[in-house]
Amino acid sequence: MAERFPLDHSGQWCEVLRPHLGAPRPAIFLDRDGTLIELVEYLAEPDKVRLIDSALALVRAANTRDWPVVVITNQSAIARGLHDWTAFAAVQRRLLALLDAAGCALDAVMACPALPDSNAPCRKPNPGMLLSAARRLPIELTSSWIVGDSAIDLEAGKRAGLRHGWLAPTGYGSRDEAAARSLVGSGFDAVFLEPLSTLAARLSTDPSSSNK
Ligand SMILES: [Mg+2]
Repeated sequence: MAERFPLDHSGQWCEVLRPHLGAPRPAIFLDRDGTLIELVEYLAEPDKVRLIDSALALVRAANTRDWPVVVITNQSAIARGLHDWTAFAAVQRRLLALLDAAGCALDAVMACPALPDSNAPCRKPNPGMLLSAARRLPIELTSSWIVGDSAIDLEAGKRAGLRHGWLAPTGYGSRDEAAARSLVGSGFDAVFLEPLSTLAARLSTDPSSSNK
């Protein structure tokens, strides 16, 4: 039987893994490639999935605090015809298994298949994936964090109305520092090239970090 995928009407991967109830709360919006896992261009092989330890610490801290963790990932390899959703799903199964083995969980996964020049609403730096997640989970966007290794990650967060960004030192982080710094302003601030374990520690120890 053909595998069924959680695609919405626009063709965006839109998967809620753990429904949350209750009052809106901050979320951690987390880029996948180069942020949660080591960067592999157009990753299609499950055995190449390598978790980044400091990102794992962040997922764990958010889980403990009951903040939703939402992976948001551009996957233009789909539109380019390099691989299909079957390959993406296999990579995701491996990723979720590794997280589970480490005692961590994601709450939702959003993936955009569109090409970089498509201007698709879901394609970062557009905010569509964050907004999709916020329609499905009780998320307070303004107090949430956008965490990624590329300037387009932070820009998507800013456009979604978030006030806090974190440029990871992994993946393309160093390459994109200047572009990411140019996003600061108009109510948006960010931390640059600090390990994600620092944000994890902040979540664990600072009761005010939800409403700064
Ligand atoms: Mg990335």
